[in-house]
Amino acid sequence: MADQGFLKPTPGFATTAIHAGQSSDKWKSAAVVPPIVMSTTFKQTPEGHTGYIYGRSGNPTRHTLEECLAGIEGAKYACVYSSGLGATTTICSLLEAGNHILSMDDGYGGTHRLLSQVVTRMGIEVSFTDFTKLENLGKNIRKNTKMIWMESPTNPSLKVVDIAAVVKIAKSLGDILVAVDNTFLTCYLQKPLDFGADIVMYSMTKYMNGHSDVVMGAAVVNDAKLAERLKFLQKAMGAVPSPFDCYLVNRSLKTLALRMERHKASSLAIAQWLSKHPNVTEVMHPGLPSHPQYEISKRQTAGHSGIVSFIHTGGLKESKKFMSSLKVFILAESLGGYESLIELPSLMTHASVPAEQRAELGISDALLRLTVGLEDVEDLIKDLEQAFKETF
Ligand SMILES: *Cc1c(COP(=O)(O)O)cnc(C)c1O
Repeated sequence: MADQGFLKPTPGFATTAIHAGQSSDKWKSAAVVPPIVMSTTFKQTPEGHTGYIYGRSGNPTRHTLEECLAGIEGAKYACVYSSGLGATTTICSLLEAGNHILSMDDGYGGTHRLLSQVVTRMGIEVSFTDFTKLENLGKNIRKNTKMIWMESPTNPSLKVVDIAAVVKIAKSLGDILVAVDNTFLTCYLQKPLDFGADIVMYSMTKYMNGHSDVVMGAAVVNDAKLAERLKFLQKAMGAVPSPFDCYLVNRSLKTLALRMERHKASSLAIAQWLSKHPNVTEVMHPGLPSHPQYEISKRQTAGHSGIVSFIHTGGLKESKKFMSSLKVFILAESLGGYESLIELPSLMTHASVPAEQRAELGISDALLRLTVGLEDVEDLIKDLEQAFKETF
């Protein structure tokens, strides 16, 4: 699937994002930009087909995106799905009844819902623990554990997990697949396969597409057998994205490096600014030396994306006033787009997490999550400054 021969091993990330899998030769066309093939069926001869048969099992625009994605991940294979959760559902279907999944306790809410309310009904056991305490792995891995599911950094508290250490423990204890949801950082900032993970999962909806106009997911792997199974499940389960969406995401990857550099610089500037604000008691950003896993983050990433959480000196009333006072930041869920957003996890993204678990994870009514977009950082800081003045 992947365009393995492409300029290896010299091209950098941006060159790969712009050129891997994009050659128009396979289209018998001189178009520089890969076309969108909307056809759901492909002409055959009695002797056979040309590689494409039916839109669910394969589509040239989708393959162009998959080759590009494998290229930038530095991986051999990529499969895209109709959403991030569609990818996760498909990945969970690698397992069978009687198997056990051990998941990070501080993961994306939708993943928690899928694992605890759907996957368990298929006869697969699921349990959750805090992976920042590595001893929890040994304690919670069972004889039938077949997959470890993790995210780093987590949402919204931005806890960082040592991926290499988790892989080492998992591999020493059994034949266990390690899957990493890399949505928050993208392969520009973190490459879990390099640390021994077996599967990288994405909600492409977020930074990968980056324009808040496509819902899509992906799985990226190096193992040929795993890739074959994921491709089979893509066809057999049918969680496939539309050719138009594949076209949009393939286009978006061309600016991923530039976008992530800007998200990274602006979020760090805002985190540093917030750290000095008298109405802020805590700032969560893995790029700050005060972050509890600062050293791990420095070692396993090329920096942090646009997500910053902070706790202010007020309560629910102040959180609401602050959010409604902002003029540039938009009050909305999701993340990873060009636009800056703010949300209150306790009432919005994490409302479904039981109150006592929220308290344990430190998600109070005074914790706000920013997703720093691509606007001028001076304007974003000015906006925050005037909202603090309005609120306190
Ligand atoms: C959004 C998100 C998902 C789910 O992806 P969808 O594309 O919304 O299905 C999974 N993991 C993380 C970390 C996310 O932010």
